[in-house]
Amino acid sequence: MHTVGPSRAVFGAGTLPQVRGEAERLGRSRVMLVSDGAPALRKDTERLRDALGDLLVAEFDGAAMHTPVEVTEQALTVLREHDVDCLVAIGGGSTTGLAKALAVRTDLPQVIVPTTYAGSEVTPVLGETRNGRKITRSAPEILPETVVYDVELTLGLPVPMAVTSGVNALAHAVEALYSPDATPVTDAMALEAVAAVARSLPVLHDDPSDQEARSDLLLAAWLAGTCLGAVGMGLHHKLCHTLGGAFGLPHAETHTVILPHAMAYNAPAASEAMDRIARALGAPDAPTGVFDLIRRVGGPTALRDLGMAEADLERAADLATSQPYPNPRELTRTGLTGLLRDAWQGRRPQAAAGALPDLRPLTDEVVASFDGCADPRLRQLLTDLVRTLHSYTARNDLTPLEWQQAIAFLTEAGHITTVTRQEFILLSDTLGMSSVVDALANSRTPDTTSSAILGPFYVAGPPAADHGSDIAGDFTGTPMLADIQVTDQDGEPVAGAVVDVWQSNEDGFYDVQLPDLDGPVLRARFTTDADGRFTFWSILPSEYPIPDDGPVGKMLSAVGRHPYRAPHVHFLINAPGHQPLITQLFVRGGAYLDGVPGQRDAVFGVKDDLITDFTPRTGPAPDGRPVDGEWRLLEFTFRIARLDQH
Ligand code: NAD
Repeated sequence: MHTVGPSRAVFGAGTLPQVRGEAERLGRSRVMLVSDGAPALRKDTERLRDALGDLLVAEFDGAAMHTPVEVTEQALTVLREHDVDCLVAIGGGSTTGLAKALAVRTDLPQVIVPTTYAGSEVTPVLGETRNGRKITRSAPEILPETVVYDVELTLGLPVPMAVTSGVNALAHAVEALYSPDATPVTDAMALEAVAAVARSLPVLHDDPSDQEARSDLLLAAWLAGTCLGAVGMGLHHKLCHTLGGAFGLPHAETHTVILPHAMAYNAPAASEAMDRIARALGAPDAPTGVFDLIRRVGGPTALRDLGMAEADLERAADLATSQPYPNPRELTRTGLTGLLRDAWQGRRPQAAAGALPDLRPLTDEVVASFDGCADPRLRQLLTDLVRTLHSYTARNDLTPLEWQQAIAFLTEAGHITTVTRQEFILLSDTLGMSSVVDALANSRTPDTTSSAILGPFYVAGPPAADHGSDIAGDFTGTPMLADIQVTDQDGEPVAGAVVDVWQSNEDGFYDVQLPDLDGPVLRARFTTDADGRFTFWSILPSEYPIPDDGPVGKMLSAVGRHPYRAPHVHFLINAPGHQPLITQLFVRGGAYLDGVPGQRDAVFGVKDDLITDFTPRTGPAPDGRPVDGEWRLLEFTFRIARLDQH
């Protein structure tokens, strides 16, 4: 079951003046402003007063930690004296607590302006202290009606407070993920909150004025607070509650110290949630990931630094186990004593058995080694390459033997590569990368002929040939007359376009693969005439295997793939004022055009609009050339992009 409170949130930077409108939207005109009178918030409180204008009829600035009922009584007196009909609170969780305590007694609506990441503003929960004892209750009237999040109010939150308050939000999200009440909705919010805390805290620590990081963290606080309001919390929250109440430890700091240890305690019984948290953190293991994050941003990691006496640890464990509550892992006195001891000393929790080591410092160090690179593009490409390679290696838990095999594969690819045998292009082609590069570079112009990969057999500067000439040399095969036109995307002929053509013979070999052959054959350069046209004779291409006697061939056979390319002719078109086009025309009805992936073209080069008719004909050809038997006619118009259109 998933229930959400009917609260309204305004989120942004500079939203503070909207508080007046929000109070009016609730139909209210007599506001009491609640705060804790902290000097750090004086200016913002003054701006809020100005914004409220004549709606402001009363003020109480004595909110205190843990919402003592005596303070609430004093505020109630002020409230009644001024016939208040709306509560506006500006401050952290303590101030929000007072507004909630007043609301539950008077049923007045609340507009909360949070200035920390405690998240109380979106929960229907109130914790009050009476005679030193904290009592928590939940009721719909406690949930504030409206929250106005203004990122600008958090800019002055000192880094140590931002850290502990941010970890406070993180704790809500973490415990929501293994709560028995968790729903897909709370899971999604909690994971986003974890990720936002993990990415924003280090940025904010390094540059406290970074507004984007502040905004990220405030958003995390909202999401995590919403989780806190929707599902029950476990060991971490109860333990912090106990430590805060019984030993007077500071709220946010205690949360920060305890969280990694509570997570480590629960991890064996909540492994799925921990895996998701680790992924959201970008860490190999959740509890140590949180510990490392806290240490990275200078947060407290030891209870002894918060003033807790070692002698109190046993009593704390007794108190924490005295009342049972839902938690993923059974609470034992011995277990909790161990947890508290680790937290007291500030030990890094043990990573779960089998967890990957934390590789981030290594990755970061390698990435930082590119800092001196003057070329920003090179730096970006190397940075991402290293991050992707490290993460690939870690995700797959690559063994030293597999690493050696990969090196041997690349070495073999290097050794077999010559001027006419390019194993690395074959590798790129067979992994589809060439087609990705091609798609990125060439598929962004509509109404033009699709591009296709260059392939490994292009030779720059082929011999110029006259229109109508035969490029097949001594090769035999089914004669083919190509009648080609080049136009722009509006159908206007492109004269003077230089078109390189190359293809394989009937046995599937390119000239460069046949060392005894004299000179370039089945490759030529044509220039289009005034109508954008040229014609030539050749032979019908057939399917052929890419060279498979090297490491790429072994890879294909290891995965049960064939090495064949569908029959095609290559074209490379360059025309002044136009985008170059590299493409291929495939013989309709040819082999390897259909079928399941792995049965089709071995280099993933086929695009539907490039499959074209090589129409069978008999009898004399249009140019008067006598042909015996069947011949094929290839008629095609390439549409290329004018540069001004790109
Ligand atoms: P807090 O409200 O006590 O604030 C801590 C200190 O920070 C105060 O001195 C405050 O004046 C100061 N401060 C607040 N905003 C500031 C800013 N922007 N710049 C500088 N100083 C600023 O502490 P908190 O961590 O916000 O809230 C903790 C309290 O909230 C606890 O009592 C906790 O139990 C409660 N809480 C309740 C819920 C709930 O759902 N009921 C949820 C979370 C927290």
